[in-house]
Amino acid sequence: MYSLAIIGFGPRGLYALESLFVTLSRKRDTIIPKVAITESQSEIGCGSAWSIHQPDANTINISDRDLVELPERKSISGEGYNIASFPSFIDWVRVNYQHQLDDQKDFYFNRNVMGQYLNQRAITIVDPLIQQGIVTLINARATNLIIQNQITEINFEDLKHPTIQSQHTLLTTGHLPEEKSKQDEEFSQHANQSRDVFYSQSLFKKGL
Ligand SMILES: Cc1cc2nc3c(=O)[nH]c(=O)nc-3n(C[C@H](O)[C@H](O)[C@H](O)COP(=O)(O)OP(=O)(O)OC[C@H]3O[C@@H](n4cnc5c(N)ncnc54)[C@H](O)[C@@H]3O)c2cc1C
Repeated sequence: MYSLAIIGFGPRGLYALESLFVTLSRKRDTIIPKVAITESQSEIGCGSAWSIHQPDANTINISDRDLVELPERKSISGEGYNIASFPSFIDWVRVNYQHQLDDQKDFYFNRNVMGQYLNQRAITIVDPLIQQGIVTLINARATNLIIQNQITEINFEDLKHPTIQSQHTLLTTGHLPEEKSKQDEEFSQHANQSRDVFYSQSLFKKGL
């Protein structure tokens, strides 16, 4: 039985996990929770909007100067766990992309750069917690939640992952696929009638 299941581990799931351990580190005599993280994609922390696999043509719509507000993670430690610090986005691009802020000019990074940042930030908290026996990462799509007597039973699409039980469940599944809207249908019809127009519903995959 897990104390907490986080379903979907994009930016919001990552922020929730970091916040949980920051809070726990400030309390004395706490019981360390057993956390199950379930994520259907192979990369954690970035979700689809910041996928590391998307083409370089996709850029962030937030300038580097505004991203100064994406703060570092300070090191977090408590009884039985140690999580290393991780730099702010701007410090990270300074080191990894030799990027310097310019007072006069905005710069817009590729979306996959933010994806790399979020993915590395996620790995550097999840991996140590796995090694310390606190987190279990389940790389599968959760398909069904049943709550009975305040315990959630979670099933997965891929039957090789057994059902898990959790006392608390956090749904951070982000944007979910939707039915095609009327406008999507019109775009799609237009694309079908024009040889040089392509319509794609999944912009975040390479090789379209
Ligand atoms: C097209 C698009 C463009 C965007 N552009 C910007 C932008 O420029 N700037 C900005 O600030 N925000 C933008 N956003 C908003 C973006 O969604 C947020 O920045 C952020 O990604 C939301 O994080 P999240 O963790 O809530 O959701 P997501 O990033 O969607 O992450 C959810 C995660 O849950 C996983 N998941 C979903 N269902 C299941 C399941 N059943 N089982 C297991 N795992 C599951 C998914 O694989 C994913 O990794 C954009 C969103 C979209 C869709």
